[in-house]
Amino acid sequence: MSKQTSPKENKLVLVGAHVSIAGGIHNAIERGTEANCNAIQIFTKSNRQWKAKPLTNDDIQQYKTARNQSPIKVIIAHASYLINIGSPKQETAQRSYEALKVELERCNQLELAALVLHPGSHTQSDTQQALKRIGSYLNKLFEQVNGKCLILLENMAGQGSSIGRTFEELASIIDVVSDKKQIGICFDTCHAFAGGYKFDTKESYQAMWSHFDKTIGLNYLKAMHINDSKKLFDSRVDRHEHIGQGEMKLKAFDLIMNDERFKDVPKILETPKDHIPGDDIKNIAILKGLID
Ligand SMILES: [Zn+2]
Ligand SMILES: [Zn+2]
Repeated sequence: MSKQTSPKENKLVLVGAHVSIAGGIHNAIERGTEANCNAIQIFTKSNRQWKAKPLTNDDIQQYKTARNQSPIKVIIAHASYLINIGSPKQETAQRSYEALKVELERCNQLELAALVLHPGSHTQSDTQQALKRIGSYLNKLFEQVNGKCLILLENMAGQGSSIGRTFEELASIIDVVSDKKQIGICFDTCHAFAGGYKFDTKESYQAMWSHFDKTIGLNYLKAMHINDSKKLFDSRVDRHEHIGQGEMKLKAFDLIMNDERFKDVPKILETPKDHIPGDDIKNIAILKGLID
């Protein structure tokens, strides 16, 4: 890793957190700014409900004004946890598809860079079929929605029958997608660790990313979720923890923060929020402190 880079304060790293939109989407910008973020993630609607009230022109204008006056450079969204376009149940898959379409349209209205999606769950049906279903729904989505917002498939911890724990599964979804420019990956550190990927030594870190590059391709990596893990390595249980307080070694975050290949990849915390914005401020400071 190069040591001859500019001093820390001059180096732009895209680091931030998931922030709430309570009271209106424009409020997320203020919350992110208060937490020292220059990149944020939001839900564009309630993440535990199917329904969304359409965005009004006022909502959009207020949001854009706030954004333009803020130091925030990248804004991405996370799709609702209810969505499962991999479901073998036609009704669930179709309902999920419609909801995802509305979310992608909202993201385009808000000029967001990307929408992070949990690939889905096969609910004890055939995994290969589920991977194909997800890919086909994404093809339909990209045909029906015009806009620049990408869909980023997130790697999962592998709880229950969730899809997307392995790079191979993510790659087989991408294989089905015709328009590769619309699709990417969001790498969640907690999910990878709990899902059985080691990357906390120089050697394991290099090995994991070369595996990622071979199976998926590093060019697909468009965002990262930076979370420590409450649960053990390979536990397949998804519980996020503050950076440095979980089961992961700080070295894993150190390697990511100093990896020149990921300089332009926004790094978003999804760590607990007992104190707002204090917790995010602390975690962001830890991450920035790791930069050589
Ligand atoms: Zn997620
Ligand atoms: Zn995540």
